[in-house]
Amino acid sequence: MSTPRPVDVIVIGAGQAGLSAAYHLRRIGLAPVDAGGAETFVVLDGDAAPGGAWQHRWASLRMATVNGIHELPGHPVPPADPESASRDILPAYFAEYERMFDLRVRRPVRVRAVRREDDAPDGRLLVETDAGGWSARFVVNATGTWTSPFVPHYPGQERFRGQQLHVADYVSADEFAGKRVIVVGAGISAVQLLEEISHVAQTVWMTRREPQWTDEAFDEPARIAAVAGVEERIRRGLPPASVISVTGMHWTPWAIAARERGVLVRHPMFASIEEEGVRMADGTFIAADAILWATGFRPALRHLAPLGLRTAEGGIRASRSRALDEPRLFLVGYGPSASTVGANRAGRAVAQAIRSTLRERGERAA
Ligand code: FAD
Repeated sequence: MSTPRPVDVIVIGAGQAGLSAAYHLRRIGLAPVDAGGAETFVVLDGDAAPGGAWQHRWASLRMATVNGIHELPGHPVPPADPESASRDILPAYFAEYERMFDLRVRRPVRVRAVRREDDAPDGRLLVETDAGGWSARFVVNATGTWTSPFVPHYPGQERFRGQQLHVADYVSADEFAGKRVIVVGAGISAVQLLEEISHVAQTVWMTRREPQWTDEAFDEPARIAAVAGVEERIRRGLPPASVISVTGMHWTPWAIAARERGVLVRHPMFASIEEEGVRMADGTFIAADAILWATGFRPALRHLAPLGLRTAEGGIRASRSRALDEPRLFLVGYGPSASTVGANRAGRAVAQAIRSTLRERGERAA
């Protein structure tokens, strides 16, 4: 590999979390290049175009049906027709944002590994990518979850002759027209897609546990309590919990519509998968042409493996977005900051922490 380029900060990922961090890093005085023309601050993104995960989400996820998007800091989301697809509106907004604040995202650049550069006198982190290496004082990881879909394993899964797909690969209900579809998962996406697909196909909804429906508003006190709970989990090195385990399952318009049309009928999970369908624990067989796994995502953190930070429980210990076992690494969009509003707040906190550390050491660039 060619000699790594030295920089102060590398942000990995240019979704909501990465752009928020980049904005606040610029606000504290970091510029992409210093007065001498040397790079000081680099944002890398694995996608070919702006928009983070929003550019990949299904077309029927409209501005009206996303849960509520918190705008990026310093620039509002332009008014949009609620019926327009979030995958059109939000990537355009992100692209404008990058231009407006001169964030100079480098893409497509995929980070393969982050490791300690042990022989460096000032203790840097080496960021290896498919476009060469960088050596950074700080790494802000903002890689989200979209590239890491989770599908649980069930006996016989490989024998199924029908179609199996994760929501990350879902395009539209049309591909299921006239079919028998099992939708697996207890989250917001599962219920939305169940409702949508049930208009054109015969659906069965399965979840491991009975969903915990709630009518209670997820208001500011509830949000603060939930974030504190997740922050504590992450501090202890536990993996982040699912969104609905924190917020409960709310009666969204599509959940109500599905209930009213009689399709929101929850079945327990099947015990195994066979060629033509699934076998329930009581021996009953349910024929199926497709299984849609709406079973969530895991944080996309494989490239951090060389740092050896993963706990036995499967998380990375962090507090206020800073890795407790590697203080040069920040994790935004992870745990308590895995929402658009959380990502914004974490971006600001991370920039402040980096500024304080640089000032303590009397180093340049802030
Ligand atoms: P992403 O948007 O996924 O961005 C991560 C970026 O990192 C991507 O551009 C990716 O290319 C890049 N990347 C990943 N790995 C690498 C690598 N190794 N090297 C280089 N680049 C890499 N939250 C809300 O607050 N409101 C909502 O309404 C809402 N709706 C949602 C709907 C769905 C279907 C889903 C799945 C999630 C939703 N969320 C919502 C959660 C939402 O995704 C997050 O809050 C936020 O958008 C995630 O931003 P992010 O920057 O962490 O990740």
